[in-house]
Amino acid sequence: MMKKMYLVFFLIFAVFLSISANAFIKSGYVLSNPGNVKYKISSTIMQYSSTLVTSTATWADKCAKIGVSNVSSDENIYFYGDLGVANGTYATCHHTSSSYKVITFYSSFVNLSSVRKNETIVHEVGHALGLNHTQTANDTISVMRAVGFNDKDYPLSDDIAGIADIYK
Ligand SMILES: [Zn+2]
Repeated sequence: MMKKMYLVFFLIFAVFLSISANAFIKSGYVLSNPGNVKYKISSTIMQYSSTLVTSTATWADKCAKIGVSNVSSDENIYFYGDLGVANGTYATCHHTSSSYKVITFYSSFVNLSSVRKNETIVHEVGHALGLNHTQTANDTISVMRAVGFNDKDYPLSDDIAGIADIYK
């Protein structure tokens, strides 16, 4: 009888482990207005405004709870360009507060192919929405991979599941 109990516990634990090893990772930053996430494009990155608009909208296209709009004030996400700065990264997302994020693009971004520019934007907006980098096992099903590209410029299944889990 005890052996059976141990077996049941072991099986539950094994199932739990396999689920947690194959899931998105949440940052804990949750926006209070997911249905109307407002973003503003700085003049410093305005030359990429059309891809910023298109790429940000992919989150709303793929995730039922997400809506986005381009605004001139009261934004939640501020797109900023530091395109003269070569610091080894394409872009970063800084969580200034729970409702205000700054996404900054650096010089390496300029030389990316257009699909990778888009993928970088989608990735950074994923951070702004509350996703951390996914586990390596999920790299092919997530735009939130820590390193490298999938050459798919929209949220993938792991990302969509993550957003559905954050914004129920
Ligand atoms: Zn990242």
